[in-house]
Amino acid sequence: MTSEIVRIGVFTSGGDAPGMNAAVRAVVRTALHEGKQVFGIRRGYQGMIEGEIDEMFHRSVSNIVQRGGTILKTARSQEFLKREGREKAHRSLTAHGIQGLVAIGGDGTSRGATALFEEFGIPIVGVPSTIDNDLYGTDFTIGFDTAVNTALEAIDRIRDTAESHDRIFLIEVMGRQAGFIGLAAGVAGGAEEILIPETKSDLDTLCKKVEQWSREKKGSRIIIVSEGDELGNAAEIGKKIAARTGADFRVCVLGHTQRGGCPTAKDRILASVFGNAAVQALLEGEKNVMVGEVNNEIVRTPLRETWEKKKPIAERLMRLYRVLSR
Ligand code: ATP
Repeated sequence: MTSEIVRIGVFTSGGDAPGMNAAVRAVVRTALHEGKQVFGIRRGYQGMIEGEIDEMFHRSVSNIVQRGGTILKTARSQEFLKREGREKAHRSLTAHGIQGLVAIGGDGTSRGATALFEEFGIPIVGVPSTIDNDLYGTDFTIGFDTAVNTALEAIDRIRDTAESHDRIFLIEVMGRQAGFIGLAAGVAGGAEEILIPETKSDLDTLCKKVEQWSREKKGSRIIIVSEGDELGNAAEIGKKIAARTGADFRVCVLGHTQRGGCPTAKDRILASVFGNAAVQALLEGEKNVMVGEVNNEIVRTPLRETWEKKKPIAERLMRLYRVLSR
């Protein structure tokens, strides 16, 4: 691999996702393997602005492949949204001699990386990492599989109590704009109903189902609600159903439990592959792409496309859940 880049910066940004550490480890060790220097930028774009940048070595990333969260910390930076903030960030990168960046995060991180490249020309390669799985250009993002498994464990537990009491449970999962977690956890958990932002949720139809379940004396009934569903959050939807049908219900909001915990094998492997691929892309002269996996192939997608285009949910899974959820 020939490249003029000698000093690479790496950072994690936006919501933390299990597997970010495995990605940082892969970036650091691949860069060192290629004879490059690598610098960790703490607290995402905010730390970049404030110059929180330190050199990293093999031992800096020891014993982290199995840990959730991110050793580099993460932040949501208001300052970086403005051009002056990005100018400051660029100045501190220049002061540390950083010639290329690996940005690990979700769609907001990708928007920020696009702006930084387009305004200052610094080469950036993105690594898709968000539990929401809502980035175009990759079938899966780092953290999604772990979050789905965490949600699934909770669903299975709630199923036991729902079955014992013949009760309706509304389980709210993360996903303000995207229902990937809701759909995957719902199918895997055998949910009776899945309400996600990508599909039209209709209260009349939902209430008719609830009444039918009562007539059929169905025991446990699990309704998965993505937090961004247009009918409201789980508590609001539960109240609407109860007002129309008189059904007794309970609500469980899984919230931030879905973000933490040890990454699954799938997420650790994906993170290791993506971290390695990102450094390779940078050293091969890519300046403005995100690495991803589409149909089992590693691909590179222009950064702008990753957030301008919308990744569709798997219609196939949606149809499957409708067949299986009776
Ligand atoms: P997640 O999907 O897990 O929340 P994310 O990367 O989408 O992760 P955000 O908080 O949306 O998380 O974005 C991370 C940071 O990226 C923001 O705090 C902000 O500093 C920067 N950012 C987001 N959008 C833009 C933008 N349009 N221009 C410049 N910077 C941006």
